[in-house]
Amino acid sequence: MIQNRIEILNGDITALGVDAIVNAANNSLLGGGGVDGAIHRAAGSELLEECKTIGGCPTGEARITRSYNLPAQWVVHTVGPIWYDGTQNEEEMLAACYRNSLALAKEHGIQTIAFPAISTGVYRFPMERATNIAIRETVQFLQKNNQIAKVILVCYGDRAFKIYREALKNILSEIL
Ligand code: ADP
Repeated sequence: MIQNRIEILNGDITALGVDAIVNAANNSLLGGGGVDGAIHRAAGSELLEECKTIGGCPTGEARITRSYNLPAQWVVHTVGPIWYDGTQNEEEMLAACYRNSLALAKEHGIQTIAFPAISTGVYRFPMERATNIAIRETVQFLQKNNQIAKVILVCYGDRAFKIYREALKNILSEIL
C-alpha cells in the first residue's frame, strides 16, 4: 500500500540509516550551505573528493556517490532549480529531481531513500508548491515501481512538517 511506503519525518537527514539520502546540491557538486553543507560535514572530506571526480550535474538531474561517515549507504546528489517566478520551468525541473533521483536509486538496488525539501531553502521555491511536487512524484513512482520499499520525506522544522503532513493527507485522499 502506497501510504505505508511514504513517511514524513521532522529532523536531520544526515542522521538517517537508510540505504540512500538525497542531497540538495548545486551544479558544481562541490558542497554549499544548508542540507548540502550538513551532509558534507557529516560524511567527511572523502565525499568532496569523490564529488570532484564527477564534474558537476545539470539542474534536474542526479548523481550517486558513496556516503563515507554517514549512516546511510549512498548519497544521491540532485540539483534543484532556483525559484524565480514560476515561469522558468521551475516546477518541471523540481519534479525531474525527484524522478531522476528515484530512478537512480532503483538502478542501484536501493530500497529505502530519504529526501530533503529540495529547493526550498536558499533556492527559495515556495514550500507548499514544492511539497505538492515532492509528494506527487513520489506517489507516482511508487505506484509504478515496487522495488523501493520506503521513501522518507524529511522536513526541517515544524512549519515544513505541517505543510508536508497536510499535503500528504490531501493527495492520498485524492488517489485512494
Ligand atoms: P536549496 O539550495 O535546494 O534550497 P537548502 O539546503 O538551502 O537547499 O534547503 C533545502 C531544504 O533543506 C530546506 O527546507 C532546509 O530547511 C532543509 N534542511 C537544511 N538542513 C537540513 C538537514 N540537516 N536535514 C534535513 N533538511 C535540512
